Amino acid sequence: METKDTKKFLEEFKKICESCGIKLTYQRLEIYRVLLEAKDHPSAEDIFARVQERVPTISLDTVYRTLATFEKFGLICKIYALDEKARFDPNVSHHHHLVCTKCHKITDFEWQEVDHLPLPSQARQWGEIKDRYLELRGICKDCLEKG
Ligand SMILES: [Zn+2]
Ligand SMILES: [Zn+2]
Repeated sequence: METKDTKKFLEEFKKICESCGIKLTYQRLEIYRVLLEAKDHPSAEDIFARVQERVPTISLDTVYRTLATFEKFGLICKIYALDEKARFDPNVSHHHHLVCTKCHKITDFEWQEVDHLPLPSQARQWGEIKDRYLELRGICKDCLEKG
């Protein structure tokens, strides 16, 4: 699958690696590709299974280490929702999450009203607020459609 998009993606990933000082490897590239294609905020094990389809020789350990590197350089975010397992988010821009309590899928959404809502007056007593993030829990669209 050597499309225009693949080429563009490769070039962008190369640039990211150069600017972060990460060595570009085929395995890293494939892990990053899987992350970008994922819409469900996969766990390390999910990512491992998906990358294995393209790179059968990859080890789970490599996936763990690569995810830690990506996180360190701000390419992805690590999140915890319903499970104890960490989940990985390639969307590093500001957004909120809907967590499905049935299938545990995490869906991104934006809610600018919430982003701009004034903080409660007692917020100053809690500490210094730097960011806000909302986690909604419910049943996702896919699960609703399945009944
Ligand atoms: Zn669901
Ligand atoms: Zn997200």
